[in-house]
Amino acid sequence: MLPMLIAFAAAFGLLIGSFLNVVAYRLPAGTSVAAGRSECPSCHHQIRAYDNVPVLSWLLLRGRCRDCAAPISRRYPLVEAVTAVLWALVAAIADSTAQAVLGIVMVTALVPITLIDLDHRRIPNAITLPTAIAAIAVGTALDPSGQVERLIAGAAAFAFLLVPAIVRPDGMGMGDVKLAGVLGLCLGAPVAVGILVALVVGSVAGAVIAARKGVAGARRTTIPFGPYLALGGVVALVAGQPLIDAYVKTF
Ligand SMILES: [Zn+2]
Repeated sequence: MLPMLIAFAAAFGLLIGSFLNVVAYRLPAGTSVAAGRSECPSCHHQIRAYDNVPVLSWLLLRGRCRDCAAPISRRYPLVEAVTAVLWALVAAIADSTAQAVLGIVMVTALVPITLIDLDHRRIPNAITLPTAIAAIAVGTALDPSGQVERLIAGAAAFAFLLVPAIVRPDGMGMGDVKLAGVLGLCLGAPVAVGILVALVVGSVAGAVIAARKGVAGARRTTIPFGPYLALGGVVALVAGQPLIDAYVKTF
């Protein structure tokens, strides 16, 4: 049963990933994510349904538009594949329905958040707010006894990043603070692991950039913090609870 479920989650993740590409492209531009079929940005031909199959179409078309042969970014199939892997991962590791649905809500939001933060240096409320509401609704419905912990985790994660965001607003934005809160609402206590991972990986990446480009160069090439939080969230989803248990046992 489980391999079937994982395969189903991966297949569904591919389709969702295709939609998340649209979200990441249209939401910052202010166009509706629901209205109209996708078109080639070069020749404006509408993309045919059979050329819109996740990953497969890109491979068959060898990354080029069927009408004008303009290159199609490899980011599209990559995002579809990553979303499929994330959905399969959640299906493989969740040991309750609540954990599975909260995990799906979280990873599905993290994909467009990462893309938009990399492209535009911002994390839209149009994603974090509905994700927070969905997480609270799903958590309350499927696991009411754990909801207080998740609310506390969300508030704590929000408050923890709020301090650096106020002290150094150029380093951390309010979008990052809200995203940390959303991660807490989805993960509960393991969000602590996620934020730790984000801070460590972000610092190491910053040090590597500084070593290669000098401190002044590193200032200019700072990477937004959202992608690190997204990475931390996924690590916490997979290994957060076991790490906390091991830590508690050690001390
Ligand atoms: Zn074209």
